[in-house]
Amino acid sequence: AWITLEGGDGSGKTTQSNLLAGWLTDEGHTVVRTREPGGSEVGQLIRDIVLHHRGDIAPRAEALLYAADRAHHVATVVRPALARGEVVLQDRYLDSSVAYQGAGRVLDATEIRNLSLWAAEGALPDLTVLLDLDPTTARTRLDSADKPFDRLEAEKAEFHGRVRDAYLALADAEPERFLVLDAAASTQEIAALVRARVAALLAP
Ligand code: C5P
Ligand code: MG
Repeated sequence: AWITLEGGDGSGKTTQSNLLAGWLTDEGHTVVRTREPGGSEVGQLIRDIVLHHRGDIAPRAEALLYAADRAHHVATVVRPALARGEVVLQDRYLDSSVAYQGAGRVLDATEIRNLSLWAAEGALPDLTVLLDLDPTTARTRLDSADKPFDRLEAEKAEFHGRVRDAYLALADAEPERFLVLDAAASTQEIAALVRARVAALLAP
């Protein structure tokens, strides 16, 4: 099974991924934890460009860099793990591109989605957990996290508002794939809801 976590910066994806991975492992599953951008060696190089390049990157170039990361990652990490019967637990996938490169950078959402689907040869997760949080709360969390911002986290509030709206629209369009949770709820509450949905997904 393939599970992706989505949501804005500061929505708690890493925390929930840690909790879910621990639970899955206790349940006897082999879990492959991965992420985009940067889930492969090539992807690490691309991640370094998209997150740490000083200065602007043309929006279409940025979209292609994310798509290149995705193409290599799905082909060399995700598909092989799924073929081995493992659970792939992934931070961010194509919904991030539609939200950030599409709505954030104001490229056409359908074009970005199609670019991603081409890159990944159509691969879609079995479940996508969207941790929904208003950008103001997310910003407060990030500011108190005491770590340096990367290029994208430093974007202004309006950008993150567009990203949030795009995520919600994606979830509306594919309600069977998405589980949308209020990321302002407690960590344990969210984790329990995620576990319940994943348990149903993995039930024989
Ligand atoms: O989730 P993670 O912290 O790894 O994401 C790194 C940064 O890349 C985030 O600031 C996110 O906004 C950005 N990003 C993006 N487009 C994507 C994926 C991530 O702009 N498709
Ligand atoms: Mg981050």
